[in-house]
Amino acid sequence: MIIGSGIGGLCCGGLLALGGKKVLICESHSKPGGVAHTFTRSGYKFESGPSLWNGLECPTNTSPLGQILDLLEESIEVKKYKGWKVLVPEAEFELEVGDSPFRKKIQELRGDEALNQWDSFIEAVRPLSRIIDKMPLLTTSPENLNLQEILKLSIQFLPEINHANKLRKGFGEIANKFLTDPFLNNWVDLLSFLISGMSMDDTNTAAMATLFNEWFNPNAHLEYPLGGSESVVNALLRGFKKNGGKLLLSSKVKNINFTKDFATGVTLKNNAIINSKFIVANCDIWNKHSLIPSHLISKFKTREFSIEKCKSFLHIHLGFDAANIKDLPIHTIWVDDWKRGITADRNIAVFSIPSVLDPSMSPKGKHVLHGYTPANEPWEIWKNLKPNTKEYNDLKVERCEVFMKPLRKIIPDIDKRIELKMLGTPVTHQRFTNTHCGSYGPAISARESLFPGYKTPFRNVLACGASTFPGIGIPAVAASGAYTAEAILGKKEFKEIISKLN
Ligand SMILES: Cc1cc2nc3c(=O)[nH]c(=O)nc-3n(C[C@H](O)[C@H](O)[C@H](O)COP(=O)(O)OP(=O)(O)OC[C@H]3O[C@@H](n4cnc5c(N)ncnc54)[C@H](O)[C@@H]3O)c2cc1C
Repeated sequence: MIIGSGIGGLCCGGLLALGGKKVLICESHSKPGGVAHTFTRSGYKFESGPSLWNGLECPTNTSPLGQILDLLEESIEVKKYKGWKVLVPEAEFELEVGDSPFRKKIQELRGDEALNQWDSFIEAVRPLSRIIDKMPLLTTSPENLNLQEILKLSIQFLPEINHANKLRKGFGEIANKFLTDPFLNNWVDLLSFLISGMSMDDTNTAAMATLFNEWFNPNAHLEYPLGGSESVVNALLRGFKKNGGKLLLSSKVKNINFTKDFATGVTLKNNAIINSKFIVANCDIWNKHSLIPSHLISKFKTREFSIEKCKSFLHIHLGFDAANIKDLPIHTIWVDDWKRGITADRNIAVFSIPSVLDPSMSPKGKHVLHGYTPANEPWEIWKNLKPNTKEYNDLKVERCEVFMKPLRKIIPDIDKRIELKMLGTPVTHQRFTNTHCGSYGPAISARESLFPGYKTPFRNVLACGASTFPGIGIPAVAASGAYTAEAILGKKEFKEIISKLN
């Protein structure tokens, strides 16, 4: 059984069911998808989490999620697009993914010297991207590689072998070496923060080399799943259920049951007991620990208990009148002041208006918007406040005012257009996603170590999701779900399943 129906849990469950296992997913929330769940109010379909997707389209893609959907023989209708809007202190501009649009922008904003720096930087990242290309995430888990497989992989990236050790370091090392131009340096810091919730110094180089491979290659594009995250979640669920998988919603797991140090199953909050041969914790690392009986908790490595958490989020959800608005961007990223630093609270906001590409997300003539401050809102200022008290509501309104400045830049008369407005705090985020302190996930610096693997001190308790290697983000959690499935199915069986991919 799997605790949690996040994208990692659903990917793991789908592959296990495909491999013939009898799988049950117990989900605490009334909706599946974890932080990627969608909810509806007054005809608007609101997102709670991810908005930037790619590699969903089957069968040509190489992303782990796209490949898992392919294996499950499920597909999602996507709309391809390239552009997003950037509001930074030095300029406001439309940007497209791909190599040349950003080079053009650098030339325009910063001149030749900066462009040379960028070109040298991209040149230095390229061999790393080539290595990543040759190590598709959906292969065997690095924890399971035997010597023969390591050798085989090493031979594949022999021309780049002397770059390989850089993949395990912080991305800041390579960025700082080439990018002395402040705008470019800040830009890479920003992209790193959006991926990991940490500065570029702490962000894993492998994750960034993957992003650069996807966003800065000449044919780059992004994909919007029509119907939003819900379509992705539903496709994974269809693949899971048609192979016999079962999902229980509103079923919080209270604890994992053990006989000695062998897990026998779980007890739900309603005291129902479910027995299982294997338990997979798709919840975050702190929730996983809370499910282990106190007499066994000391079996975890002490390092696991000192892992810091990324900060949380402020959210804004709007439904607004779309009359006579032209050229609205689907995404906008706003930075207030580079000097405050990329990790400062209320200094960055991200907005997504999916109804620009998919009118089914909002009632006719309206738009739907989700904005959030990405992993920079401290839990500590919220943790003692009770929702719906005056103090809580006043602070919520005060801190969420941060969204209005950039929103008025995107849509100058937004205040008059708003028909539905919902604000969210770390407390809201925690409540609806069941994440510890509403955190984005573990803040594990690439300079110190990799994310913990799927193993736990207990042979038949495993983990997957954003607290597990390779880390946070949709591609990473999909891969982690696959690694965990491999561990349960066995290498041979797993290889047979993924051999259907080209
Ligand atoms: C606002 C936001 C924006 C993001 N944007 C992007 C983006 O654009 N692109 C991208 O790639 N990534 C993005 N991410 C990151 C990405 O969405 C997450 O890393 C990923 O979805 C996490 O998946 P997961 O498998 O770890 O599970 P989670 O989504 O964390 O789900 C875990 C599930 O476990 C359940 N659970 C917890 N405890 C229990 C229990 N005791 N019993 C039963 N169930 C339990 C929870 O309810 C939850 O459903 C974003 C994240 C956020 C929050």
